[in-house]
Amino acid sequence: MRETPYGPVYDNILQSIGKTPMVKVSALDTGPCELYLKLESSNPGGSIKDRIGIAMIEAAEEAGKIEPGGTIIEATAGNTGLALALVAAQKGYKIIIVVPDKMAQEKIFHLKALGADVRLTRSDVGKGHPEYYQDVAARLAEETGAFYVNQFSNEANPQAHEDMTGPEIYGQLDGDVDAIIAGVGSGGTISGLSHFFGKKSPDTEIILADPEGSILADFVNKGAPPNAVGSWLVEGIGEDFIPDVTDLSHVKKAYDITDKESFEAARELLRKEGILGGSSSGTILAAALKYCREQKEKKRVVAFVCDRGEKYLSKMFNDYWMYDQGFLKRPPKDDLTDLIS
Ligand code: PMP
Repeated sequence: MRETPYGPVYDNILQSIGKTPMVKVSALDTGPCELYLKLESSNPGGSIKDRIGIAMIEAAEEAGKIEPGGTIIEATAGNTGLALALVAAQKGYKIIIVVPDKMAQEKIFHLKALGADVRLTRSDVGKGHPEYYQDVAARLAEETGAFYVNQFSNEANPQAHEDMTGPEIYGQLDGDVDAIIAGVGSGGTISGLSHFFGKKSPDTEIILADPEGSILADFVNKGAPPNAVGSWLVEGIGEDFIPDVTDLSHVKKAYDITDKESFEAARELLRKEGILGGSSSGTILAAALKYCREQKEKKRVVAFVCDRGEKYLSKMFNDYWMYDQGFLKRPPKDDLTDLIS
């Protein structure tokens, strides 16, 4: 790889993972704060998960858990699958992705286009059922001797954020970071950042953005999960359990964000700041704006755009979908202006 004043020249696409740019929020009301967004959407696979895709595969290589040309298995239809399939294709590994059958066709097409062997399994069964997607992946790994990545208990996941994401944020802002707002899917990002900043800059506050219905916000704010788990439409964050790699002990505060608030924030992010992010970026931005507006003095705050918004164009960016979900008010019948504009 070669750095030039005009931009880097990479020897292969995997070198372009990480070192993502930051953009300062300029049009939205950030109270007394400066808010910076780290554009994880500019990773080659389109999300923050590229970082752990390469890190988990390289950790397995080092530990001798995969042979050249060997097979990797993961249970996911999300960004982790896309990241692992991208890295596997570049490194010459075969990859099996076990996908619950409710997942969007686009994701399945994208995984297949990357060369992944996609196995569909039932979405209507829970943990412990033989057809639950994580159990299918674990069984296939045992039967075939393939390497089961399992991001929820793979230590290389938070480690990647401690080694890469944390130092990048610290370096990009010359060590002057008052708060970081992140979501939790596997918990890799928030745990890795907690560990890095806990050692390097312990005054930096780590704040959780959680979709309403997920158990994590209560766990942070009240010390215990709620009695019931709800459901939410935001993709990639929020949990009904606490994954093994999730360490919330450094997280100072959590914001519960509704789907409506998340989608509205993502739509504003595009219209006002020109950034096309996914739904979890909306949740994180909504929480970051709340945090910023609550402050009495100027703080430097960092939040994430975790993935690209293209896969949500027919959902939260589509007014008709928003009307159907009840998140936007449908215009009166005789007013068809928005149909022709
Ligand atoms: N946003 C999106 C869109 C994601 O796919 C994920 C991972 N599921 C996250 C945020 C959260 O990242 P982590 O797994 O590191 O908690």
